[in-house]
Amino acid sequence: MSPPQETRPDRLRRRAIEHLERLQSEGVWGLDLTAAEGSPSADSPHVSGAGPSQQEVELISPSSDDQVELFAGGGSGQGGGPPADETLEQIEAEALECVACRLHEGRNKVVFGVGSPKARLLFIGEGPGRDEDLQGEPFVGRAGKLLTKIIVAMGYERKDVYIANVVKCRPPQNRNPQADEAGACEHFLLRQVAVIQPQIIVLLGKVAVQAILGTSAPMSRLRGKFQTWRGIPVMCTYHPAYLLRNPNAKKDVWEDMQIVRDALAESGRP
Ligand code: SF4
Repeated sequence: MSPPQETRPDRLRRRAIEHLERLQSEGVWGLDLTAAEGSPSADSPHVSGAGPSQQEVELISPSSDDQVELFAGGGSGQGGGPPADETLEQIEAEALECVACRLHEGRNKVVFGVGSPKARLLFIGEGPGRDEDLQGEPFVGRAGKLLTKIIVAMGYERKDVYIANVVKCRPPQNRNPQADEAGACEHFLLRQVAVIQPQIIVLLGKVAVQAILGTSAPMSRLRGKFQTWRGIPVMCTYHPAYLLRNPNAKKDVWEDMQIVRDALAESGRP
């Protein structure tokens, strides 16, 4: 009797775990194989290293059926888990040709991501808007300029961090990405995270939060403290576009970014 055929989710999970194990064997900071094996527990939050572990860490468990939890291996995108030793350039070259979901039909440019491949801080938004679609770079419109100001206020420059989105092509009329679109695009973001190995991830806005953490809890409940996702401390905060409409929330975002900045400063990681 032939052995049972490995399903795509199983294959993705296996390859991701193999990759994480290899990184861990090389002493890479901040990976949590327990989470990678799909057994997060609400009573076992985990943050590696100094700094973030001194912050309040709360694990948000996926709760709704319509959630889009990236990297769970259930998406319909092409590719598998993160292959060893690939570069952001190689991944981007693949994304530039991608037609895996309907969003490719209306795009001008694929907006892959920008910043340092060794960034300690990774910002993730939901998807490109009009300006980003025209320029091929994330967060370059009004909201992007505000994000840049936030980054500078934290003591960094855009080139020091990495900025990406859940989907790489602009949804029409700037609507939210749909679940199947996020699923089709998930492997690109997974591979970006695997290459960059950020120390902290900042999720900008509820769409990114739902896609990554799989929770639709209100931002007011999530922000202000670290969540953890696959062993990486994650700070949820308001999207800069929301701040343009609700300037009163700027103080909350600044509070969140100060927590992130302080955690990075305390970690001692180069
Ligand atoms: S959004 Fe992502 S999956 Fe969809 S076409 Fe663009 S790159 Fe491909």
